[in-house]
Order: sequence, then structure tokens, then C-alpha cells
Amino acid sequence: MTSHVVIIGASLAGVSCAQRLIESNADLHITLISDEVDIGYDRPPLSKSLKVGEPLPLVDLDPSRKLDSDKIKLLTGNPATSINLDAKTVEVNGIDVGFDKLVIATGARARKLDTFNIPGAPIKTLRTLADAKEIQQIVESKSKPRVGIVGGGFIGLELASALSTHCSVDLFEAQKHLLSRVLPIGISSRVAARHEAAGVNLHMEAHIARVEGDSSTVKIELNDGQNFEFDLVVQGVGAIPNSEIAGEAGLALANGIAVNESLQTTHPDVYAVGDCCSFPLASNGETVRLESWRNAQEQGLHVAEQIASGEHTKFMGLPWFWSDQYDLGLQMAGWPHPEALRVDRECGDQHCTFELNGDHKLISVAAIGPGNSVAKDVKICERLISAGTVISPEDLANPDVNLKKLLKG
Ligand code: FAD
Repeated sequence: MTSHVVIIGASLAGVSCAQRLIESNADLHITLISDEVDIGYDRPPLSKSLKVGEPLPLVDLDPSRKLDSDKIKLLTGNPATSINLDAKTVEVNGIDVGFDKLVIATGARARKLDTFNIPGAPIKTLRTLADAKEIQQIVESKSKPRVGIVGGGFIGLELASALSTHCSVDLFEAQKHLLSRVLPIGISSRVAARHEAAGVNLHMEAHIARVEGDSSTVKIELNDGQNFEFDLVVQGVGAIPNSEIAGEAGLALANGIAVNESLQTTHPDVYAVGDCCSFPLASNGETVRLESWRNAQEQGLHVAEQIASGEHTKFMGLPWFWSDQYDLGLQMAGWPHPEALRVDRECGDQHCTFELNGDHKLISVAAIGPGNSVAKDVKICERLISAGTVISPEDLANPDVNLKKLLKG
């Protein structure tokens, strides 16, 4: 009997899941529901490659993932509004769509601060293609636009890097260091230095006292009395999981939709994948919610394989994240721990910070260097983390010790 799989959300996690289901030999039909009209585009280039006077970087998720198949029906432009777990239906546009298996891939949305809620003022967030188009339109309408970025997280920093050649950019961060919650100081200080070299004005420990705006300008006053005026302000203050529809249906939530090690929610026929879900890490069982490209893709694929095979298996993905700013590439793998032993390695223009647990097993790495130069070492570290190899801190700190050799234990 043909089984009906409904997927809510048609970005990376949902599209990856749908495509793998199409490729499978399983006898099934898929309905993919998206509230966005543009589907199948990739989000990372929106902050990295948004340039003044150049076409938007509309990168297809992957040409091989095109969704032209008899097995799939696309419902775009309307959100799924409710899930009925007893009837096993999803409501979209007033119609109930029945499912045998449901995959929730609703992702996350940009967080917005109340202080910046000034209707009509040029205050934006960056999550969707539509957001990127609006930002580009505003910066293209001025000769040297003044841009204020609130929040020194990855999206704000990447946008600062992309806009710094054509705009004057001020970035406001409440903490003492950029990305201090996710990056070791040796790396975050390099990121800060590169932004300053590019002319971005970094305001650290900046606390916003007042915001005023009209249709063309935004004024920001800091607690210390400094005043700024911008043509555009972008809030880069994190993301909120789109988990309301799951919560209202009665599924358990815990900073996102709670899933078990197989990415199954508290209903056995409902899965959640990507930025919207919190799941136990295979490495230590800690429950996390990741906003990471590779995690979203791998989780979408993993659930598709389970649905196609009918067998439940543990999701083994290792957290991995990258960011590109100017000529620098940054990568992180594994999961840091505040009590881990940190070891730094300087190698030419590359810097790596490793974390070892009490048994001297590698648990995480963060690395920065020109272009894609750190990719090879981070890949090796991923293998060292997965293998649970015991490594001496001295070897890790020594740039003459080839990381590949450590793989042999
Ligand atoms: P999303 O991409 O958020 O997609 C969820 C989809 O579901 C959306 O289309 C949403 O509109 C839709 N949806 C929500 N609710 C409903 C509903 N009720 N009905 C129907 N549809 C619904 N990660 C990295 O690892 N490295 C990077 O360099 C990087 N750069 C990034 C840059 C930007 C600007 C952004 C925004 C993200 C970046 N990320 C990066 C994160 C990465 O893009 C996300 O982790 C990934 O997109 C998550 O995919 P997802 O499918 O889980 O969720």
C-alpha cells in the first residue's frame, strides 16, 4: 500500500528528506508544504555574497535535488496551520492533508528585538531570500549607505564583511568579544581584527538605550550617550525555532521540537529535523538544537532513510559549522565543553583551538585561516573526534606534528 509522507518546510532539511525519499524504492507519495514561494534556495550565500550592484546569490540547494517527480506534490505559498495527531492530518489553506508519516522541517526565524519594532523604518533581519532582496534594495538606493548591524553573531559579521566595501558599517555587540559564546578568544580576536582592518566600526559592550526611526533613517543612542544615524539597521540577534505548530499539536518541546536519538518526536509517526528540533548528540547525549547547514541536511537524509527502510537508527551526525568573512574561512567541529582542556596551535596564518576531555580525547576544534585552508585539518579532527583517539596536548600544540599521523593513534 502506498504510504503518504507529509513534509512541512521546504528548505534544506525538508528538501533533502524529500529528495532522498524520491530516490528510494519505497512505495510512497510525498506532499511538501512550504509557506515560502521561493523554495530550494540556499541560505548561507545570502549573508556571505550579498553585494551592492550584483545579482543576488540565488544558489539552488543542489541541481540533483530538483523535485520534479510524480511521487511529490508541492504546496507552496501557504503555511501548514495545524497538525491533528489523532486524525493524522495537517491543515494547509483550509484543507486537511492526511499522512502516514510526518516530517516537521520548519526551521527557525530571525529573532526581533522589541526596541527595534518601528513600523515603516528601514530595520530588517536576514533569514530569507525576500529579506536579502529588501536589504540589497535599500543599500543600492544610496551612494555610501550607513548600515548599523545589531549583534556580532555569524550572520551580522558575514553581512558586515559583504557590505563593508560599499557601505559604512557600524556593528554593535553587547559582549566584550565577538562570538564569545561559540568561539575561543584566539579565533574571535582574529575575526575582530579583520573586521577592523576592513573599516567596520566595532562597538563592543554596546548597550542600546533608545531607537528612533522614520521611513528613511534610524537613530540609535547607546547607554554611554553615543548617537548614530543609519540608512539601514539589520538585527542579527539569533533565531527562534518554528515549533509552535508542533507544540499546539501536543508534541513535546524543549528549545525546539524535542526528538529522540532517531529524530522521532513524542509521536512515533512524526519526526522533526534541522533548525527546528532539539536532539541528543550521539557523542555525549547532551540535548542540543543546532542552526547548521550540514546538520539540517544530514537529519533530513537520515529520517528519509528510516521512513524508506521502516527501521529506526540512531542519528550519528557530528556538529560542524563554517563561516566565510572577507578572505578568512572559519570552521568548527564537535561540541565544546566549558571544562575541557583547551590547546592552541599556531601554524603560519592559521590558528586552531582544540578541546580535550579528561581522558585526552578530542571533543571539538575551531580553526581559522585564509580561504579554505583549515578544511583539511578540521576534516582530520572530525575523524579523530569520531574515533575517540587519545592525543597528548603537546602533540596538538606542536605545528610540526602532522594531525593525520595522530589518526594512526
Ligand atoms: P530553514 O532553512 O529555516 O527552513 C525552514 C522552512 O520551513 C522555511 O522555508 C520556512 O519558511 C518553512 N516553514 C516554517 N513554518 C512553516 C509552516 N508552518 N508551514 C510551511 N512552511 C513552514 N549554516 C552553516 O552551517 N554555515 C553557514 O555559513 C550558514 N550561513 C547562514 C547564513 C544565513 C543568512 C542564514 C539565514 C543561515 C545560515 N546557516 C549557515 C544556517 C543554515 O542555513 C540553516 O541551518 C539551514 O537553512 C536550516 O535548514 P532547515 O531546513 O532546518 O530550516
